[in-house]
Amino acid sequence: MVVHAHTQPGINNSIRAGVDQIHHGAFIDEEGVRGILDRDLWYMPTLRVTCDKNLGAWPDRPWMIEEMSQAQPIHREGARLAHELGVKIAFGCDYPSSKHVWQIGDAALWELMELTWVGLSPMEAIVAATKTTAEAYRLGDLGTLEPGKRADLLVVTGDPLDDVAVLYDQANINLVMKDGVVESAGDEFARHYAIREPQPEDRPQYDPLADAPD
Ligand SMILES: [Zn+2]
Repeated sequence: MVVHAHTQPGINNSIRAGVDQIHHGAFIDEEGVRGILDRDLWYMPTLRVTCDKNLGAWPDRPWMIEEMSQAQPIHREGARLAHELGVKIAFGCDYPSSKHVWQIGDAALWELMELTWVGLSPMEAIVAATKTTAEAYRLGDLGTLEPGKRADLLVVTGDPLDDVAVLYDQANINLVMKDGVVESAGDEFARHYAIREPQPEDRPQYDPLADAPD
């Protein structure tokens, strides 16, 4: 069971109710972090919800900008403390978000950078986004590259373990393989792989033109 909770007492109530994951925690306090730790739950901070970039996403909702601005340092301190104490950090961005500043897929990659800015190493952020989150959702065939699991992988220019922002620049993504099938490839790889033809159902189900609040 997953709950999207920003404040106390909601976080503590959720923990007592027996959830598996706490998402957001924009106003999480030390009691909340320790509650997650004590129950060995997953914490998915979704820091991009309160990041500077997202503050421009809601020009028609000043009350949201005000609340997100207030939460910004508290949210980051909570995620930093959670990581420092050894909480299992899961990875997500809530939803693709407002068209004003985000593109589809953009928010997840931004979240990777946000996690490194609160103290995770690039490897820890990538592990959060892959292995830990697959475990949180009990997706046994995802999350790591090993025999018997789905071959979902990227080949990129640069070393994301030096700087995870390498993954944020689409120009660095040279090959995308999903479930063992090459979905897209740059010139260097296109000669060697059959690339799956785009299908109508590949189009995002989410409509980026239709805003929805966090
Ligand atoms: Zn949410």
